[in-house]
Amino acid sequence: MMKSTEEKLKIVVVGGVAGGASAAARARRVNANAEITVLEKGPEVSFANCGLPYHLGGEIEDRQKLLVATSKMFWERFRIRVRTGHEVQSIDRVAHTVTGRTVDGEEFKLPYDRLILATGSYPYRPEFCEVMAENLFQLWTLDDMDRIIAYMKQRPCKKATVIGAGFVGLEVVEQLVRLDVQVTLIERMAQVLGPLDPEIAKMVEHELTKHGVKVHVGADVQSFLTNNQKITAVKLAEGDSVMTDLVIVGVGVKPRIELAEKAGLVLGKTGGVVINEYCQTNDADIYAVGDMVEYLHGTLGTTGRMPLAGPANRSGRIAGTHAAIGRSQPLQPVQGTAIVRVFDLSAGSTGLNVRACRAAGIDFNSTIIQAPHHASYFPGACNLTLKLIYHPTTRQILGAQAIGGAGVDKRLDVIATALHFKGTIDDLAGLDLAYAPPFGSAKDPVHMAAFTAQNDLANYPTLDAFDMQLDGFQVVDVRTAAEIEKLPLPNAIHIPIDELTERWQELDAQRPTIAVCHSGKRAHVAACWLKGKGFESVTNLNGGMSIRRLSGP
Ligand code: FAD
Repeated sequence: MMKSTEEKLKIVVVGGVAGGASAAARARRVNANAEITVLEKGPEVSFANCGLPYHLGGEIEDRQKLLVATSKMFWERFRIRVRTGHEVQSIDRVAHTVTGRTVDGEEFKLPYDRLILATGSYPYRPEFCEVMAENLFQLWTLDDMDRIIAYMKQRPCKKATVIGAGFVGLEVVEQLVRLDVQVTLIERMAQVLGPLDPEIAKMVEHELTKHGVKVHVGADVQSFLTNNQKITAVKLAEGDSVMTDLVIVGVGVKPRIELAEKAGLVLGKTGGVVINEYCQTNDADIYAVGDMVEYLHGTLGTTGRMPLAGPANRSGRIAGTHAAIGRSQPLQPVQGTAIVRVFDLSAGSTGLNVRACRAAGIDFNSTIIQAPHHASYFPGACNLTLKLIYHPTTRQILGAQAIGGAGVDKRLDVIATALHFKGTIDDLAGLDLAYAPPFGSAKDPVHMAAFTAQNDLANYPTLDAFDMQLDGFQVVDVRTAAEIEKLPLPNAIHIPIDELTERWQELDAQRPTIAVCHSGKRAHVAACWLKGKGFESVTNLNGGMSIRRLSGP
């Protein structure tokens, strides 16, 4: 039952950044009469945490720009009371109150009719961080950022170590290099950027190395060597030590769920709060949004955590609406779409990668194409690599990854949209996308990826895994002699593509044959020709030599 205007609906929001600020502002827009209070334990609300690395490196020069909205603005524009420095410590679900303590140590108690929890997540603090060291940091809040900047001003840092090669870690690396710091990046996994498949991650790694970053993957931090409460070196389990003036740790996040847990709200298998499609918890008067919850994954159909700003903002909007007027559109599933800029490249993914498909027992095929991000003849065309993962029988798109100098965001977003609508490779092949030479190609990379997937499933011809064992096959390398000299493929028969229509009879039509080129494009032409000439089995090496060279250690 909604309350009358005299009896104002009391909405209390706990946590005032991405999800909480969205929820509060939306609640006000749909209900001008509710009494809305935001309780935030930190000193600021609605700051741009995603912008923190960029102010650290000076690319966002003005710190003020990170303060998207202030408490004053919330009051003046929305009549929303923001109480910063207010940490909520418990929820009484029967009395409908929250209690807590201010930074000054004062206790407070507030009644609510609807409570929205948006308490976010913590950065993991691995055991090796349990040392007193003035040059050990994490980057999660404005305060963290200010402390790093202040430290670097006080004590010029020549060498920094970033531990963790996730999205935030790589943003920090890029910005430290911008400050002329010699950066070493240490990652426990065998690759940077876990959401990417290894061959795409390898391209990111090359870009880092190209810009002078020393990358250690598959490397475990054992301990820090300290002197006078200062880390002087990072000791790796493998025995190496990395000398350093500064350490920034970014090894993932865990949901901040203590408050919810204490209040008896149900948690899911991955440790986040369970919510329904309106972001209500098991207590219909308590909503939860953002990094602390589990979302429905659109492709997997299971729930899990997805600590990203987009889902936090969207769930905040749904919860704010529903809490304020008792109805809203349902929260849509997430795909985990994410992107990062690493120097001159951008890389990102949407949906499932190969590891996730295997873990979920989902059959998949994949194609990797390379294409210019806009018409190759128009100035400024950058090479883009796009990997598309799809189901071999339903033809449904399962995921995609892209990397390149430009246009990565557009391709990921197009495929994320198709994924959202449970599209197939045929849907993707038929999309009517905007085209003029400065923007794309009449056959966009998205189309090209879909076409190659269609070819693969139609055996026209089938794609081979780029890292497959080639022994025993008749391998036809259709690259130029100059290309082969740069990147040889031993034991292949070399027939350049433009000579194949003359020389194809040099090959044995009875032997299983694999066509290879740099990216798979010319090999496709070759394989089609040979198939047409009666070769019994002819396939195309997915992604060609440019991807094969990235396989293995
Ligand atoms: P938050 O925005 O973290 O807000 C939670 C708030 O709750 C905090 O301010 C906290 O102080 C407050 N709080 C917690 N407990 C209490 C309590 N008991 N009482 C009162 N207040 C409390 N995501 C992307 O999608 N793209 C990016 O490029 C990106 N870059 C990022 C870069 C950095 C450096 C960081 C830190 C994060 C980045 N993220 C990015 C992640 C994104 O910022 C988060 O997913 C998003 O902010 C989560 O929103 P939230 O509302 O759940 O939590």
